[in-house]
Amino acid sequence: MTHRIALEQIEALTGNVYRLRLEKPDGFGFVPGQATDVAIDRDGWREEERPFTFTSQPEDPFLEFTIKSYPDHDGVTAQIPTLQKGEHLRIGGPWGAIRDEGRGVIVAGGAGLTPFIPILRRRIAAGTAGEMTLIQADKDWDSLILREEWHRARDLRTVFVLEEEARAGCERGRVTRELLEKHGVTGSTRVYVCGPPPMEEAVEKALEEIGIDGGRVIHEAA
Ligand SMILES: Cc1cc2nc3c(=O)[nH]c(=O)nc-3n(C[C@H](O)[C@H](O)[C@H](O)COP(=O)(O)OP(=O)(O)OC[C@H]3O[C@@H](n4cnc5c(N)ncnc54)[C@H](O)[C@@H]3O)c2cc1C
Repeated sequence: MTHRIALEQIEALTGNVYRLRLEKPDGFGFVPGQATDVAIDRDGWREEERPFTFTSQPEDPFLEFTIKSYPDHDGVTAQIPTLQKGEHLRIGGPWGAIRDEGRGVIVAGGAGLTPFIPILRRRIAAGTAGEMTLIQADKDWDSLILREEWHRARDLRTVFVLEEEARAGCERGRVTRELLEKHGVTGSTRVYVCGPPPMEEAVEKALEEIGIDGGRVIHEAA
């Protein structure tokens, strides 16, 4: 762990998701989509490193993380809601393979949305979000991370997929081959995938069936 940084702000978003704003070490750089190893600087937690993605922009004067807490499981994320302004996190250097490689379809499940937060925000600001389709899957409508932000972005095409809720305007169930094809994925589409491992496996199998070359699938290497 190379940097000890202070928490400047913590805010609850939807469904156990928290936005953390932290001080940024001088000269710290990363590419939107990259993550780092994070530990909470508290007794008993310093050795517990977990990966989280930067959701701020490299040029912002602060670092931001968007973290889903699992309160029923005594891990690092259960501690997140108890963090107070002025406490510290320890982070390492940036790493990760997901980055914006151009026009494509994003398939994000749950907290797997996080690498695409800085990528989409950057495109929304630049007026190029129309080159992306966001297929965002989660348990229900209230769990969809930053749903309103994506909805407001006029050019971005959004497809919300709810596993446990039937809702007008949303897809119901899981991300299947049929759903991907219905929303424009063909053998030549570039597809970005991030989500829980079983979802990534199922989506990658579906993409293979559609005939997409592995080189056009962008995901975090296992
Ligand atoms: C590259 C990368 C970037 C990531 N970026 C982000 C991000 O920006 N934001 C984000 O929210 N997450 C992100 N994650 C996921 C995040 O790292 C995990 O949520 C986190 O490590 C969980 O830590 P923990 O200590 O709370 O759980 P751990 O103690 O590490 O336990 C996780 C394991 O516990 C299991 N588990 C979870 N809940 C329960 C439960 N209630 N009972 C029993 N078992 C349970 C899980 O299946 C999992 O196997 C990222 C993951 C990767 C690989």
